[in-house]
Amino acid sequence: MSGTILRFELCELPVEARALREEVRAFLRAELGADPAQRSRYSWFGFDPGFSRKVGARGWIGMTWPREYGGGERSALERWVVQEEMLAACAPVLSHWVADRQYGPLLLRFGSEAQRRSFLPRMARGEVCFAIGMSEPDAGSDLASVRTRANRVAGGYELHGTKVWTSGAHIADFVMTLARTDTTLEGKHAGLSQLIVDLRAPGVSVRPIPDISGVQHFNEVHFDGCFVPEQNLVGREGDGWKQVTSELAYERSGPDRYLSATRLLQEFVRHTGSEPAEHTAATIGRLVARKSVLRNLSLSVASMLQDGRDPALEAALVKDVGTHYEQSISERVHETLGIEPRAGTGSELERAQAWTLSNAPSFTIRGGAREVIRGIIARGLGLR
Ligand SMILES: Cc1cc2nc3c(=O)[nH]c(=O)nc-3n(C[C@H](O)[C@H](O)[C@H](O)COP(=O)(O)OP(=O)(O)OC[C@H]3O[C@@H](n4cnc5c(N)ncnc54)[C@H](O)[C@@H]3O)c2cc1C
Repeated sequence: MSGTILRFELCELPVEARALREEVRAFLRAELGADPAQRSRYSWFGFDPGFSRKVGARGWIGMTWPREYGGGERSALERWVVQEEMLAACAPVLSHWVADRQYGPLLLRFGSEAQRRSFLPRMARGEVCFAIGMSEPDAGSDLASVRTRANRVAGGYELHGTKVWTSGAHIADFVMTLARTDTTLEGKHAGLSQLIVDLRAPGVSVRPIPDISGVQHFNEVHFDGCFVPEQNLVGREGDGWKQVTSELAYERSGPDRYLSATRLLQEFVRHTGSEPAEHTAATIGRLVARKSVLRNLSLSVASMLQDGRDPALEAALVKDVGTHYEQSISERVHETLGIEPRAGTGSELERAQAWTLSNAPSFTIRGGAREVIRGIIARGLGLR
């Protein structure tokens, strides 16, 4: 074994982050308290551009980005607190989530000055929604096998291919597309590039894929000769693989990787009341204790990002343990209370159980399937 050590460190939230938490809670109470749709939100998939604009106006998108690009120059730990509160409240964050989590940071690191000036301030105001264009029908876990082609033409590229499982493509403005710009090079990791594609451009079509609960969340996106101007190439042509792997560290470590079933846990605690049976109290205690460990791990990754370190290995570990945890909540609820899932007319708990059960299988697939994540962890630890 090569001796790689996981660098998790216990991390204290700074005083200013505690004050911020109260501010975010008050905002969420005011914004969501009277919203009837909020009762049927069980996770962070809610899409509400108006809400995102209000979050942007408070300075809570792009919090760590430089002010000159519309950011707040605040710490990654303060940003983490805002994320945690939004997720705990099941706030409708989808419109700004992906841009805030990974594409703002990607443009800051690899984008051109023109891209930063054009996109970052709009992202920070919550005005622009991005989708992730990585997976393809024959390239999911084996992402480097993408076949979408971006052929050089005068002034840019012509795009041909299909992306699949593209969350929110039906409501987003742009999709960050991983495509092959050179097919002559040796090795599947070479010749890939990232392009910002306007989802309303001619030659782009979006076909919905309803999920098991009947909700339209993800889509197939077809590129049929769509033109992408060369100024929409992110970073250097051919550097797509390096860029996309660095982006995944941002995608994998946040509280969204263990708080997807938070509404169910809240309803579980509410249902059992203040004098739960001993075995119920023990189950709740175990769930809360595990959450507390995950919280500290995720916070530690945020602090590594804050210090400019690359936490790809630690982020993969948080995703693996975190998604396993969020999947287990519905099993524990069922074992403990015998509550069956009942969508529509069920109690709050039964409806939360129905939503969680039908979505839980996806927790360990999205953002990288479990087996693949474990392979990354094993490699990072020098075990393979
Ligand atoms: C809710 C949800 C939202 C998503 N949103 C997006 C999105 O917005 N944008 C996007 O680009 N993608 C998105 N995805 C796609 C997701 O990233 C892929 O589904 C995932 O990477 C797995 O790819 P696949 O579906 O092709 O499965 P496969 O790669 O075919 O894998 C099938 C099974 O084989 C296993 N397997 C594959 N390779 C190996 C290996 N080398 N070793 C061991 N086991 C292996 C996998 O772990 C898995 O269990 C989303 C998926 C879900 C469920």
